[in-house]
Amino acid sequence: MDRLGIVVPCYNEEEVLAISSESLRGVLDRLVSAGKISNDSFVMFVNDGSRDRTWELIEQEHAAHPGQIFGLKLAGNVGHQFALTAGLLTAGPICDMTVSIDADLQDDVDVIEQMVDKFHEGKDIVYGVRKERKTDTFFKRTTAQGFYRVMDAMGVKTVYNHADFRLMSRRAVEQFAKYPERNLYLRGIVPTLGYETDSVFYDRKERVAGTSKYPLKKMLALAFDGITSFSTKPIQMVMSLGILIMILAVLAGIYAMVSYVTGHVQPGWTSMILSIWFLGGLQLFAIGLIGRYIGKVYVEVKQRPRYNIEKVLTDGESEFKE
Ligand code: UDP
Ligand code: MG
Repeated sequence: MDRLGIVVPCYNEEEVLAISSESLRGVLDRLVSAGKISNDSFVMFVNDGSRDRTWELIEQEHAAHPGQIFGLKLAGNVGHQFALTAGLLTAGPICDMTVSIDADLQDDVDVIEQMVDKFHEGKDIVYGVRKERKTDTFFKRTTAQGFYRVMDAMGVKTVYNHADFRLMSRRAVEQFAKYPERNLYLRGIVPTLGYETDSVFYDRKERVAGTSKYPLKKMLALAFDGITSFSTKPIQMVMSLGILIMILAVLAGIYAMVSYVTGHVQPGWTSMILSIWFLGGLQLFAIGLIGRYIGKVYVEVKQRPRYNIEKVLTDGESEFKE
């Protein structure tokens, strides 16, 4: 029988933790009695350095349901992507499949069953894809859709309307573990693993409680990370722009020469000032962009651990690989 591990990153989620735990345990119970997963399947809550009572609540849940609720406490806040990775890499090797889901239950827990079915059909990766974004605010919806468009235009492979709600088989997780990069954009990496994939569709709900831990600033950072970690298109664009500007400069040069020869030697001060400023701005932009890539190289070469685990709560039998 196949063991399922549900991985839930949590940052300041004290309002939703008990509710999440209950509904995810419900899912496990249903799947166990349907004979689709083994009865040692579990939910692993990853505490991403919460400053509220999240970890205490995870400990309580673990104590109340020791075989079903596992906990992983990270030392400090490392962000959603790293917290999820910590959970996947900890739970993945002891499971046949993992499902990652947010703590706020915006994703429909009932489609986990369909994901498991697809796993039994031989799929290694199953994406949870949102049908619509009715419950999101107009702002969140348009920014999110703009995000997918930009990613697409930049040549980053992403699954449209899929966040980090997905099933991964053990070998998919093991493969993912071989990606040591620090500029981590999971949604970009998973499609490059190359295994057979499928999708299940659901309506995204509102947060059961609490507020979003993904303000615009973090969203923009994620988008920027996604693009610069997977695509060299921005550099190509700068190069193309540079070539275009050079062609324009030659044309302008010819125009200036002709003006000079024909006696119109009152060269436009305005146009000169304009080009100085324009080129100055363009160069700064290009240097800045290249700088961002160099910055990433710098971060990568340091090869620091992406997270440090402080404590692991399990059933006491499961062995973890380092
Ligand atoms: N999260 C996390 N670390 C962070 C920020 C968020 O582990 O630094 C978790 C959070 O607890 C939640 C998930 O990431 O389980 C998604 O966050 P949220 O629901 O706030 O994002 P939204 O749905 O608003 O985009
Ligand atoms: Mg959410």
